[in-house]
Amino acid sequence: MQINSLLNRFLKYGLDKGLISELDIEYTANKMLAFLKLDEFKEEKVDSYDFLSDLSELVEYAKDKDFIGDSIYEKEIFIASFMDLLMPRPREVQHQFDVLYNEDPKKAVDYFYNLSHDNYYIQYDKTAKNVKWTYKSEEYGNIHLTINVSKPEKDPKEIALLKKSKSTSYPSCPLCKENVGYLGRINHPARSNHRIIKIRLNNEVWYFQYSPYAYYNEHSIVLSKEHRPMVINKNTFKCLLDFIDLFPHYFIGSNADLPIVGGSILNHDHYQAGNYHFPIEDARVLSEVVLNNEITLSTLKWPLSTIRIRGTSKEKLVETATLIFDTWCNYQDENVDIIAYTNNGRHNTITPIARFKDGKYELDLILRNNRISEEYPDGIFHAHRDVHHIKKENLGLIEVMGLAILPARLKKELALLKDVIKGEIQIDEQLKQHQSIIDDLKNEKNNPKLDELILEKTASIFLKGLSDAGVFKGDEKGQQAFNKFIELIKQKI
Ligand SMILES: [Zn+2]
Repeated sequence: MQINSLLNRFLKYGLDKGLISELDIEYTANKMLAFLKLDEFKEEKVDSYDFLSDLSELVEYAKDKDFIGDSIYEKEIFIASFMDLLMPRPREVQHQFDVLYNEDPKKAVDYFYNLSHDNYYIQYDKTAKNVKWTYKSEEYGNIHLTINVSKPEKDPKEIALLKKSKSTSYPSCPLCKENVGYLGRINHPARSNHRIIKIRLNNEVWYFQYSPYAYYNEHSIVLSKEHRPMVINKNTFKCLLDFIDLFPHYFIGSNADLPIVGGSILNHDHYQAGNYHFPIEDARVLSEVVLNNEITLSTLKWPLSTIRIRGTSKEKLVETATLIFDTWCNYQDENVDIIAYTNNGRHNTITPIARFKDGKYELDLILRNNRISEEYPDGIFHAHRDVHHIKKENLGLIEVMGLAILPARLKKELALLKDVIKGEIQIDEQLKQHQSIIDDLKNEKNNPKLDELILEKTASIFLKGLSDAGVFKGDEKGQQAFNKFIELIKQKI
């Protein structure tokens, strides 16, 4: 296709998606010309277009003209910069969001989500390649699983370049607000087409954006204005509930503030939110008590020890959550290996989640401890070694709510595992780590549902990892210890 026709197609796409208006046509066309070092543009009638294939064609054009080389990061920078030409300025996005918010909060987030999707900030064709399934567990109900193949992998040439590249501290991290419009580098993602929305939580400025990796529906990130470390305290509960007031149809949660039990980014205070029904929401209630006629406190049948508090008063919930958090931070029960402080500092923390349900605020407080021992150098309450072939990384907010994010390598390994079980190929070093799955399914080689059985096995191993992370185990000893902690909380309220 002629480059002129291609540009016409992008303009039509931008118009159809509301990224630009009729008033922007000539201006945007001219910006595209400058970007591609062209001199002339001719308007053409466009009957149809295919955005993703048009984008691939544009990338090929850029390679032909030597604007970019073969590396992934150059391609990402090129695409983000080009798409930015079709984007409103940050103030226009904020304005449109605010206007719609006054009509209906859902309309505002829908607008912003579609914008982040249509400008290809969310690279949805890549996330579509993720493998997703649901596992029906007898004990805990449904568990959701995803093999995540959408995060860009680097080729060896890029890794070599990466070693030589100079490190700079701008933007300080991939979450900072300074990423908006940032070109990108080999060691920092391309963010030309990135936009964020300013909101207020607990009388402080925060920013709202979507995650480019979209682990679940409308996966969003809420980040503090300052680049400051993750922290869980009274203000966290206030912020989470303020967010629920702003967007009642979204849940929001925070990763814990300690390594091993926290997320991958501990140096920038942030939360994750979205429009997704996580398995933990449906966890069976084990015990329930109403405190002072105001707050319902329940324990849940869940692999991780979880306390749920519900009520209509935000203030009372914040008070109760803070009391539970403070009590937990100093709680010791050596019979079940819970030690609050060692020479390495504090070990107890929580992963909090907030939602609005049936007219009440709901907070799930998941008790965590990040202590390590000689027996468990990766964490006493972290997925143990026998689970690492499936999941070795931190069990963060998303996982502890019942959605596994599993490493990309598993897509290939599980496919090969099937061939090993069927006796079609020999087991190799890489696949040996999955010996337990092979042993369990060795009599199923002719089962037409072998694929499903492998996914089931994988899920049950992940679930075992979640149970490893539970501070009070599901057995009698663990539940008695959990009850002892709950009694202490009740006394204090
Ligand atoms: Zn930052």
